[in-house]
Parts: sequence; C-alpha cells; structure tokens
Amino acid sequence: MSETEQAFARHARYINPAWIKVLELLGYGRLFVRAEGTRMWDAEGRAYVDFLAGCGSVPLGYNHPELVAAAMDSLRANLPSFVQLAPMREAGLLAEMLASRLPPELSRAHFVSSGSEAVDGALKLAFAATKRHGVLYCDLGYHGVSLGALSVIGSARMRKKFPSLPGCEEVPFGDANAAEEKLRTGRFAAFIVEPIQFEAGVRIVDPAYFKALRELTDRHGTALILDCAQTGMGRTGTLFAFEQLGIVPDILCYAKALSGGLVPIGGYSTSPAWQKRAYGSMQDCELVANTFGGGALACNVAMKTLSLIDDAMLARVRENGEHLGARLTALAKARPMIKEARGRGLMWGVEHGAPTSGIASALTLGIPNKVAKELFAFWIAQRMLERGWLTQVPAHDQNVLRVEPPLTITREEIDGFVDALSETVAENESFLRFARDAAGRLLARQFG
Ligand code: PMP
Repeated sequence: MSETEQAFARHARYINPAWIKVLELLGYGRLFVRAEGTRMWDAEGRAYVDFLAGCGSVPLGYNHPELVAAAMDSLRANLPSFVQLAPMREAGLLAEMLASRLPPELSRAHFVSSGSEAVDGALKLAFAATKRHGVLYCDLGYHGVSLGALSVIGSARMRKKFPSLPGCEEVPFGDANAAEEKLRTGRFAAFIVEPIQFEAGVRIVDPAYFKALRELTDRHGTALILDCAQTGMGRTGTLFAFEQLGIVPDILCYAKALSGGLVPIGGYSTSPAWQKRAYGSMQDCELVANTFGGGALACNVAMKTLSLIDDAMLARVRENGEHLGARLTALAKARPMIKEARGRGLMWGVEHGAPTSGIASALTLGIPNKVAKELFAFWIAQRMLERGWLTQVPAHDQNVLRVEPPLTITREEIDGFVDALSETVAENESFLRFARDAAGRLLARQFG
C-alpha cells in the first residue's frame, strides 16, 4: 500500500469512514505531506498552489519562517502556559495589541481556541449582559459546529440532528425590516451576523443594512455580534471587514487566521461596559474560564501574525484583490457557464450558472438542475486540483468555487490560477456542448 492509501485506510478505520468515501468520490484522493508558503506537495511529490488557505486559517502561507521562529522562541523560553491561577502575560500582550488596532468600544478580549468557541463565548456574553435568551441569526449564515454555534447557523441540514438553544430565530440576510419586526419584541439578547457570508457562497449586502442593524439593536437593547472568523485578519483588505461597514459591533468574533496557520486560537472582543455587565462581579468573572484560551504559545504566534498583517500587507491585499476580482469578473463575462464573481480583497466566490437550460437538462438527463449545478462546481474544483490548484466549494452553496488564497499570494500566482480556471471552464463547456449534441442525436434517433 502507498503512503497515501495507508493514510486514507487508517483515517477510515479509526476516524471517519464516510468522510473518506466523500473525499474519494469527489476526487480528492491526495495526501498532503509538505507545505511552504503558498505551495503544498502530496505524497507522490506533486505540487499544488493553495487557493484555499486552510479555509482562511493560513493567512501568511504555510509555515511562514517568522511565525515558525516565533513558535520556536516561545517553546524554547520554557514558559508556563496554562497555569490558571495568575494573569496570563502573553494573553494580556495580545489583548493590548488587538485593542491598539480596534476602536475603543472593542478594547476588551477573551481568548478561546476556535471560531465556534468564540461564537459561543459571544452568545454567552450577550445572554449574561442582557439577561435575555433569544438570538436572531441570518439564513445561510455560518458560525461553527459547537452546540451554541449550531443553534444560530442558517442551515437546517446542519442543525437538524441536534437540539438548539431556546429562542433562536432566523431572519433573511440583508432584510432590515424583518430584523426590526423581531427586535421590536425585546426578546433577543443578540443579533449575530457575518459582514460577508462567505460559506453561503460570498453573499455581500449593502452596508446600509448593517447601519440599520446597528441602529435597531441599539434601540432594542440587543447585542450586535459580528462574526469575523472568516473575514478578519486582513482577508477583505482591512484588518476586519466591519471597518468597511461604518459601524462597530458590541461583540466581535475572530479565530482562524489569528493562528497564523500554526497554533489554534480564537477570541471575542467587546467594550469594558458590555464585559462588565456580563462578568463584572467577582462571582461571575470565572464564567469565561477555559483551560487553553490565551495560552502562551498561541498568543506569541498570534502576536507575530498580527504584526505581519500590517498596513503594507493590507494594501497588498487590496491591490492583489482588485486584480483577482477584475480577472474573475472578466472571466465570468467571457464564459456563459459562470454566472458571477463576487468578493472583497482576497475572498472571492465564482458562481456557476446552469450553462443554458438546454445544455443543463441535456447533461443531467433528468437529474434535477440544482444537483447538476452542484456537480459543476465540484467537478471544476477537482479538475483544478489535477492541474495543481487547490480550491473548494463553500459549506452552504456548493455551486460556488471558493477563492481564498493566502494573503501572501503573488500576482503571477493569481494570473496562473485564473488562466487555469479559464481553461478548465472552457473544457467543461465543450464537454457540455458535446453532451447536449449527443443527447440531441439520441433523442433524434428515438423520436425523429
Ligand atoms: N464563524 C465563521 C464565519 C466561520 O466561517 C467559521 C468556520 N468556517 C466559524 C465561525 C467556525 O470556526 P471553527 O471551525 O474554528 O470552529
């Protein structure tokens, strides 16, 4: 058995057999064994350029030398990591550094180890501060897979096997009137929303929506939680995407990229006033305790990561993002199979339309159109992988190709990616044309 086969068999035997079946079915039968910057290599020695960035958790490329050095230094310093009964020096330094890059309303931070936990922490803070229990969340929103996060995820499919927190209700993303109708009841502790819904296939709405939400949540005493786990740490061209919306949330969640792609960390920031309302007493201050949150190694790597996502890096994201966006938009215009390219900074989605109803129905020969479209995006991601470009589809809209390279991606790599995508789509289109013609001939023979 090859190393790849062994790893797949072991995972199937000891971890999650159905997941391995899915990977094999989708043509992801590769074992990645080495990664450096924007490149990865599989066990067979094939190289790939990474346009997935660990679903946003690898902002500066894999094993960035300065981040590895920060981790090594931290480990060599024999620091006490999880003492519990003392202030955590590194967590304090990281919180101070975050505060220096955030508005004063977000100067207090609590650290955890993932995005889901950050969302749970934000919800708990809102419950504790408002003494209410309901939460409003948006359709197709993504907030993680812990029980708290699942209670507010905009996907019935992901929620249905698990009990939800009481009083959680869904409203359409971008619809301020629907939000107002619910908020008016005064029942809701929090409104949780993403600045851009990435896992929904990159849904972007008018910033006026967020201004309205800010005003409405203020008026009705509800905490506005912005989940920037995906859109934070420079991904959209500013340190956090909310900076482009002209509002400041009551609670800000972050995770993923703060880890530098090396050591898990998440967190949520709020104002001293909100923090005090929730956990201000000596009795309640312990309610945020968790063993690993704010550990020295994670915080040292996070601080180095933050320092590298500086103004120059953000400017580079905006410039390269504009270039990527312009090229993807041109591709969408040129190719009938692509409906639209949407994004900000280095976070883009390429939506595949049904090529034309005629072609789609001929191709699928009876498979519902939606399924066929989903197969397209998967198929394209898989063909891109064969060409050495790693991409995926987002969790809630599998008709979209997610384009999320490390922030350090180069112009040449961006051009290479779009050229490869263009060729892949062109091949797909000719395949579709062939399928349509073949189906047409078949039908003509049967009925002609
Ligand atoms: N919030 C958002 C917006 C996310 O995109 C994700 C992960 N895709 C999460 C929360 C959950 O993060 P984690 O997987 O680290 O728990």
